[in-house]
Amino acid sequence: MENEHLQRLLEIIDILACPACKNGVMLSDDKTALICEGCGKRYRIWKGIPIMLLEEIELPEDECSEDVQQDAKGS
Ligand SMILES: [Zn+2]
Repeated sequence: MENEHLQRLLEIIDILACPACKNGVMLSDDKTALICEGCGKRYRIWKGIPIMLLEEIELPEDECSEDVQQDAKGS
C-alpha cells in the first residue's frame, strides 16, 4: 500500500527537482514529504505523488510565471 507508493517514488526521486531552485530533493525522515536539498522547501507527498507546487505560481500573470511551471525537470 504505502510501501508501493514509496517504492515508486524512490525510483523517480533522482530525476525530481525543486521547482524553486532546481536542486535535488530527498525523502523526509517521516517519509511524508520531499525536502529540497537546496532551499529546504518541503513538498507533501500525497498517495505517493509529491505535490511540488510553488505558491509563487499563483502570482498574477504580469510576471512571466510560465518558465516556472513548465520546467520542473531542471537541466
Ligand atoms: Zn529548492
